[in-house]
Amino acid sequence: MKFGGTSVGSAERIRQAASIVHLHAQHEHKIVVVVSALAQVTDSIVHILNAANSGNKQGVEDGLEQLLKRHQQVMAELLYDMPLQSVAVTVMADLTRLRELCSAVLLLGSATPQVMDMALPLGERISAVLFTACLDQLGTDAAFVDSARVLATDDKFGDANPDMDSTRQHCSEVLLPMIAGHRIPVVMGYSGSTTAGQVTTLGRGGSDYSATILAAALDADEVWIWTDVDGVLTADPRICPEALSLPQMTFAEAVELSYYDAKVIHRKAIRPAMQRCIPVWIKNSFRPEAPGTKIVEQLPANEGPVKAVTAVTQASLITLTTHRDIHFAEIFGRLFLRLGHEHVDILFSTQSSSENSLGLVLRQADTDRVVRAIQRLFRTELKHGVLNPVAVHKNVAVIAVLGSGMKGTCGILGRLFDAVARINVSVIAVAQGASELNICFAVDARRATEVLRAVHQEFLSPAARKTEAQSAARVS
Ligand code: ADP
Ligand code: ASP
Ligand code: MG
Repeated sequence: MKFGGTSVGSAERIRQAASIVHLHAQHEHKIVVVVSALAQVTDSIVHILNAANSGNKQGVEDGLEQLLKRHQQVMAELLYDMPLQSVAVTVMADLTRLRELCSAVLLLGSATPQVMDMALPLGERISAVLFTACLDQLGTDAAFVDSARVLATDDKFGDANPDMDSTRQHCSEVLLPMIAGHRIPVVMGYSGSTTAGQVTTLGRGGSDYSATILAAALDADEVWIWTDVDGVLTADPRICPEALSLPQMTFAEAVELSYYDAKVIHRKAIRPAMQRCIPVWIKNSFRPEAPGTKIVEQLPANEGPVKAVTAVTQASLITLTTHRDIHFAEIFGRLFLRLGHEHVDILFSTQSSSENSLGLVLRQADTDRVVRAIQRLFRTELKHGVLNPVAVHKNVAVIAVLGSGMKGTCGILGRLFDAVARINVSVIAVAQGASELNICFAVDARRATEVLRAVHQEFLSPAARKTEAQSAARVS
């Protein structure tokens, strides 16, 4: 069971989360808990480190002071009737550690990704200590586990990848004996360590990933991700308030959804569970009685064509063209190889042989790096006019419409682009993979919310879903 930031955001929330674990432990479930930092704590640590990085001593002091107050308040409310001493000492030691790291950054004038990774998971550390104490308070035997002891990774600081063999070994040495002794391990999410013992993080929002990595390493029966919504919804409810919770979806659908920034699942979290066919539940810790969403390998084919719609709101389109008669496929080959080496995520690409052009839609944050890489790679071709100057279209949004039921269903693209045309939005680029699982298109970022709502209205509003269900019933 993994609890996200809002599910452990206050003393009351931690108590509620711990009572969910307590309840299930009483039903003889063997549970491993993974926790995020208290809501917004990682953001605060990032701000404090940035202040240190830019030499802003006062910013560091203010940030540390606020973090201390926040945790002191939670501790006071959470542990009012138990001896506070050991918990308070541990929490204070973690905050002192953060202060020391900030002093080092202030002194050196720069924070390397490795130093950042030493500081970033301190919020998870404190949260896991508090959660363990709360479980103890409820009478459930629990033990704090430092993620560095169990989750082995490579040394890609800030975006580390798991070393599954070593993680499996650590889990059997550290976690299995605890579980066998009816003790619930409470593991810090978001982080791990290299074989050399350096702390690493798995990327922002990475506690979901920690949970599925540990579940795969332990051959768990299920992963339960507790968050602040009723499961995976047909769209982000902050954008489409009428979005509905999906009872189930496939791993493939969840991978697509998370890749295109539906925050409810970390973009890498599904794969470890998918590889070992471990069902993943997304559940609401605020409403544990709600059924939630079950993510599984396969589903019956009688579902509606479109399952959900999501958006990457900060993207850009890079276009490479030539008017010379050259073999453009060679250009593609060299370019994609380089992008692979640079670990760039391509949201989607479009290619037109007749125009000899290639469009790449990327996250905005990657754009400048990719343009520089293209300019280096094709220096000679650009210099001699074999390739035209790289065209960059910033501030686009990618809308992703997905559902395995779209495969073989006629008319989806027609309905989709009709809905977009009705609100007078022009489509900048479009792609649909051969799996027909996902249709992606780019629009002006300023219109993204409107487009998302229009697409949701067309395929996923209660009325649209009713019509869909009626026609499915007629067919069967
Ligand atoms: P946690 O702190 O529990 O990890 P997150 O904030 O990372 O939670 O993710 C939950 C949030 O994801 C929800 O509050 C919701 O606003 C957002 N979200 C975006 N897309 C979706 C979607 N399709 N279904 C459910 N939630 C979504
Ligand atoms: N606390 C980390 C973050 O905010 C990891 C997580 O919450 O999943 O990114
Ligand atoms: Mg999250």
